[in-house]
Amino acid sequence: MAADIGLVGLGTMGAALALNIAEKGFEIAVYNRTTSVTTAFVAGAGDLAARITPCDSLEALVAALTPPRAIILMVPAGAPVDEMIDRLTPLLDTDDLVIDCGNANFHDTVRRAAAAAERGAPYLGVGVSGGEEGARHGPAIMGGGPKAAWDRVAPVFDAIAARFGTTPCAGWMGPDGAGHFVKTVHNGIEYADMQMIAEVYGVLRDGLGLTPLQVADVFDRWNGGPLKSYLIEITGIVARALDPKTGKPMLDVIKDSAGQKGTGRWTAIEALMLGAPDTAIEAAVAARNLSARVAERVEGARIFGLSPEPVPVDGMVDKLEAALLAGKIACYAQGFGLLAAASKEFGWSLPLGGIARVWRAGCIIRSAMLDDMAAAMETGEGANLMFAPQFAEKLKRSEGGLRAVVAAAALARIPTPALSAALAYFDTMHTARGTANMLQAQRDFFGAHGFERVDMAGAHHGPWGSHEQ
Ligand code: NDP
Repeated sequence: MAADIGLVGLGTMGAALALNIAEKGFEIAVYNRTTSVTTAFVAGAGDLAARITPCDSLEALVAALTPPRAIILMVPAGAPVDEMIDRLTPLLDTDDLVIDCGNANFHDTVRRAAAAAERGAPYLGVGVSGGEEGARHGPAIMGGGPKAAWDRVAPVFDAIAARFGTTPCAGWMGPDGAGHFVKTVHNGIEYADMQMIAEVYGVLRDGLGLTPLQVADVFDRWNGGPLKSYLIEITGIVARALDPKTGKPMLDVIKDSAGQKGTGRWTAIEALMLGAPDTAIEAAVAARNLSARVAERVEGARIFGLSPEPVPVDGMVDKLEAALLAGKIACYAQGFGLLAAASKEFGWSLPLGGIARVWRAGCIIRSAMLDDMAAAMETGEGANLMFAPQFAEKLKRSEGGLRAVVAAAALARIPTPALSAALAYFDTMHTARGTANMLQAQRDFFGAHGFERVDMAGAHHGPWGSHEQ
């Protein structure tokens, strides 16, 4: 029986995606580099195996598909994707469609899309978020490439995507690298969201002396309020979990050292390149890097002996909730600012409201607030999300909490890099007269760069005279 769609790479994500596709009634042909994995996959697919055609070669995969073919790649980003494209290209017809659903760097996707276009072939770069569980039961899906190519496979992606109400969380973001760029920024926001939560956990643990179970109670409560989101929910769950080996709280036996994969770093790099600062995300990436320097931190602890001190208890838990709310709004404002800058730079016309809508369910950063963000970005109520009336109101109510938490944490020697970055961004963006006049004066002094004046047009120089270098 000829299959509707093919899939290469039956690892964590590919296997889950293939089962999801089969479950939604599509015939799917699958191939994996290691054939025993394919055999085991089909053996474990239960009733769904009837709609899955296992293939032991790429030739067999291509032969199993109905032309014009569509083949999903779910292999590690980078060289394996190029390798697969190189091996598939001679086997495919010009109108066959290759779809990279991994976490590619969007620059690679732009390059691969251009190479495919040169052959007259379509190519899609599609971001898939939600981890294994999402891939199996409903991820958020961000497509990029020729719109006509997206439309060909949209029925499959719509069918397997998460639902917000009845709306599928899948969408076409724009040409070539747009889908992978949006997924990258999603992951960058995910980094900052997680980091801010970890910082709040730090204040609860080291500043208020809460046990993991008490931390769990706080997050469970918050998940019933404006912070309601997947990440707040799972924070409560992980804080409550006990280690089966020792009976201790799971959090207490996990090493405080995190890695960072490509996407968070890529977000920070692109933000800097595009001049659209994402300081909360940059802080989150840096925090993960510094967390990995465990021995150095232990040495720092020995040299300085500066242990955390208690923070004022009064109202602190409520202030922490407000801090997360304000920090989150500032961080998302930065993320959407980066998307807007990239859209302009690359001529993508990214649908900012549509992106928020796709993120409402299925993905790791899904939250109650994203529906309101979608509305704000859709109507263009504010070029900066923080200025959209609904979010400006939220910030007016919560910025005091963020300020109190950052100040208390600083005095108590508890690091809050992402929350601090979010606060500094907020404070910068409501300061009508900043301090770059000083920078301009300095630059003119040593480099005769000139400056604009507040009271007359044109370029001017200062009275530095013979001091000029
Ligand atoms: P896994 O490591 O679980 O699986 C990788 C798959 O790719 C395996 O099927 C493996 O085959 C195959 N593979 C590896 N190298 C090659 C190669 N050189 N040529 C051909 N096949 C190869 O990865 P994931 O499923 O976790 O990730 C796949 C993609 O999805 C990545 O881009 C990842 O960043 C992205 N992603 C992952 C998420 C997650 O939560 N895990 C979430 C969202 C995206 P074999 O069995 O032969 O080793």
